[in-house]
Amino acid sequence: MTRPQLFLPIPLLASWCLAASTIALAQSDVALSAKARAIQDSAIVVDTHADTPQRFLDEGFDIGSTDPNDFGNISLDKTKRGNLGAEFFSIWVDPDLNQGHFARHTFDLIDSVYEQAARHPDRMMMAFSVADIERAHREHKLAALMGIEGGHSIENDMHLLRDYYRLGVRYMTLSWSNTNEWADSSGDIDDPKVQHHNGLTDFGKQVVLEMNRLGMMVDISHVADKTFWDAIATTKAPVIASHSSARVLVNVPRNMTDDMLRAVAKNGGVVQVNFFSGFDDENFRKAEAAQEKDQKAAVQAYLDQRRAEGKAVDYMEVDRIERQWLAKIPRPPLKSLIDQIDHIAKVAGIDHVGLGSDFDGVSGATPQGIDSAADLPKITQALLDRGYSAEDIKKILGENLLRVFRQVEQVSREIQASGAAGR
Ligand SMILES: [Zn+2]
Repeated sequence: MTRPQLFLPIPLLASWCLAASTIALAQSDVALSAKARAIQDSAIVVDTHADTPQRFLDEGFDIGSTDPNDFGNISLDKTKRGNLGAEFFSIWVDPDLNQGHFARHTFDLIDSVYEQAARHPDRMMMAFSVADIERAHREHKLAALMGIEGGHSIENDMHLLRDYYRLGVRYMTLSWSNTNEWADSSGDIDDPKVQHHNGLTDFGKQVVLEMNRLGMMVDISHVADKTFWDAIATTKAPVIASHSSARVLVNVPRNMTDDMLRAVAKNGGVVQVNFFSGFDDENFRKAEAAQEKDQKAAVQAYLDQRRAEGKAVDYMEVDRIERQWLAKIPRPPLKSLIDQIDHIAKVAGIDHVGLGSDFDGVSGATPQGIDSAADLPKITQALLDRGYSAEDIKKILGENLLRVFRQVEQVSREIQASGAAGR
């Protein structure tokens, strides 16, 4: 989930939608070579961020849907066409709408992923390890993993963190766009009304170490810069950025500086590039900033109208308004996303870059031609066209993430073998 706190006055439940008019572009604008198809089909392709669970839970969306008019980025049909092997489904709890019951909503979202896997056992399986992802690949099923997006989900309780691990959560983003009680976020770091901690609190550092012990990947997407550096200094295992791009290309606090990219490389981790156009393309970001005031006013007008009528706010409607505004901005070329991958590969190294789409979380604001998981082979083609070798492309498509995940599992085993108990 990327967009809501960028400029909306209220949180959004539903910001996953693609403008229907863009669907016709799918698959039509990039010719796939046999070589690209072969690389795609032989790789274990891993994406580390999709917000589809909100669709499962709030909308009753079935991942088996073959509805040609569905605007979503993810379905079993689409993942099959793109040969996506593993998806980390995001467990994102809106901090404003779920005050007082973060954990309950976290459990509900986790349940929604399991329920989808139970409905489609022939095509999808829950996965909790690298070995599970490899097994799913052999069985031609989508491996469904889970990452919690935002440390507020643990309600400052280490027992809950362990419960989430036991339920299968394999990464946690230390903060979402909201600063929680132990980690500062990039989303509100300049807001003087928010109580900040200068990065991670002592408890926050304990959370990182407990994640290391459990074998849960530490995700530094969304966090404030100081939180990033505290996490890097604290962790005993490689970190991930599950859905982050480079700040030198698009200057938003949510993106990573080159120093951060190099620090992740030194740490042995991986940066999974976000597909959101507002993070990947400077022109898009500027256009979005330029419409911010009018867009806010349009949403506010709707909210005022509902209030005047004494009706509850329909967040699907808010999302529809937002999508209409975003659709006014020309979609950037695929080149903008490839430039991000290329930059991170150059600065951090080819072993430290991967894919973190943010599918179903960016209101359709993806580059031209990337309408769903079915379009992932176009990225492979574009990397080939830039001179990347098959071997390097497979690293980007998933091998780098698998290496980090394996290392996190190994560090966990070592810590537990040394007799360290939970905190
Ligand atoms: Zn996000």
